[in-house]
Amino acid sequence: MSIEYDAIVVGSGPNGLAAAITLSRAGYSVLVLEANATVGGGVRSAELTLPGFVHDVCSAVHPLAAGSPFFKTLPLERFGVDWIQPEIPLAHPLDDGTAACLYRDVDFTADSLGADLRAYRRLMKPLTRDWEKLATEFLQPMLHLPRHPLALARFGIPALCPATLLCKSLFKHEPARALFAGIAAHSFLPLEAPVSSAFALVLGTAGHAVGWPIPRGGSQTIANGLANYFAELGGRIETNRRVENLDDLPKSRAVLLDVSPWQFVRMASNKLPAHYRQRLENFRHAPGIFKIDYALSEPVPWQAEACKRAGTIHLGGALSEIARTERGIARGEIPERPFVLVAQQSLFDQTRAPRGQHILWAYCHVPFDCNTDMSAHIEAQIERFAPGFRDCILARHTMSASDLERSNPNLAGGDISGGATDFSQLVARPTLSPTPYRTPLRGVYLCSASTPPGGGVHGMCGYHAARAALKEALS
Ligand SMILES: Cc1cc2nc3c(=O)[nH]c(=O)nc-3n(C[C@H](O)[C@H](O)[C@H](O)COP(=O)(O)OP(=O)(O)OC[C@H]3O[C@@H](n4cnc5c(N)ncnc54)[C@H](O)[C@@H]3O)c2cc1C
Repeated sequence: MSIEYDAIVVGSGPNGLAAAITLSRAGYSVLVLEANATVGGGVRSAELTLPGFVHDVCSAVHPLAAGSPFFKTLPLERFGVDWIQPEIPLAHPLDDGTAACLYRDVDFTADSLGADLRAYRRLMKPLTRDWEKLATEFLQPMLHLPRHPLALARFGIPALCPATLLCKSLFKHEPARALFAGIAAHSFLPLEAPVSSAFALVLGTAGHAVGWPIPRGGSQTIANGLANYFAELGGRIETNRRVENLDDLPKSRAVLLDVSPWQFVRMASNKLPAHYRQRLENFRHAPGIFKIDYALSEPVPWQAEACKRAGTIHLGGALSEIARTERGIARGEIPERPFVLVAQQSLFDQTRAPRGQHILWAYCHVPFDCNTDMSAHIEAQIERFAPGFRDCILARHTMSASDLERSNPNLAGGDISGGATDFSQLVARPTLSPTPYRTPLRGVYLCSASTPPGGGVHGMCGYHAARAALKEALS
């Protein structure tokens, strides 16, 4: 059979599209096959509730896209990507009616944290200054020779710490502790676990250095921007093309798979060597999520004024409460008061809802593969910090673990991280190698969030996988 394309990419998530663009830019012919009717994977938007209310189906807030060294090289503005910076990137309300906030400015944030001013500034100021260096260091496989060892050491020492330990040793008061704990909870790890601090440091630093922006019109505009640029480079995308088996692919010199390791095992049927196959089968999932989108008649009536000006809100109360909740989730317990992440895009983007009305995006952490309807729990958490919230609800749309998996097999069990991000799986993602994208199958590479640097919309997994393919299969 003759070669039809230089490379086939399976899946049009941000990593699939990043891989496809990298290969196209190098002059190769590339075909992307996408199972869904629309491109984008975790970067899609749709009218999930009522006509005129544009919701983000998966990702909503984009510090990693805005700070991605790869995306920075792309002409995404020309293709309609317009970042909106909410006045306050993140607010974390507390039960006394106040909120701890992460502002763009480190000093302003530190000043707002009262007696923890100095500790916050000492921790975050050098990291923010070094963001560009750090982003290239941690947005690649862990096994590499650092180009900025000093900056990396300054980040790495606190990053290795459990978040509870770092919070309690650095901060004396609840606002700073809760703020840090909420960001660390993005790790989906118990906050007593090593490296849980890394997530707070990366996302917190990104908040200061590049913001926690939202794209005007919804996350789909990022996917469309990537897809349209790829088309301009001569690439081709076919939607509604689910790939069940690698043998079904058109002939090519390289195949890049924006799929999970578990799916790869099925797609490769029995072709994988036993040791590699076993390694992939043993790769562990992260806990899951339950997602809910609302159409609202008015903005959320937050008690804390700052929450009315913030793009993202973390609901979980004090450090001790968030730590208890996340610990329970790791043990498989369904939380009574879950940790809820909220985005209120329509406060800053009028294209998202009919005039005067609003959308609200929220999800909470649950154990892996949990299909319990968490709507009432999420609403109780929002009511706790915004009494009267329920009266604003016009419509809701929910997604359990099974719904998420049906919409995208990469989200099996509601795991949105592409596999747990504990220390061992950050280092060996999904295998221990300086080129973990390479598989034992000649010319076949993994490029999804289950490869370094992991979850989030940044395209770096796809970029690095494509670079490996360019050096090997396509050289
Ligand atoms: C609810 C939710 C909220 C999130 N919030 C954020 C956020 O705010 N900010 C952020 O940075 N990240 C967020 N994320 C994470 C982010 O969306 C993912 O980490 C990112 O999209 C991973 O990109 P990817 O390209 O590896 O995979 P995906 O985005 O999952 O894309 C994979 C694509 O491959 C396709 N595919 C899979 N299997 C096959 C097959 N066999 N044949 C053909 N096509 C196939 C899928 O349909 C999909 O389009 C969120 C994720 C979810 C689910």
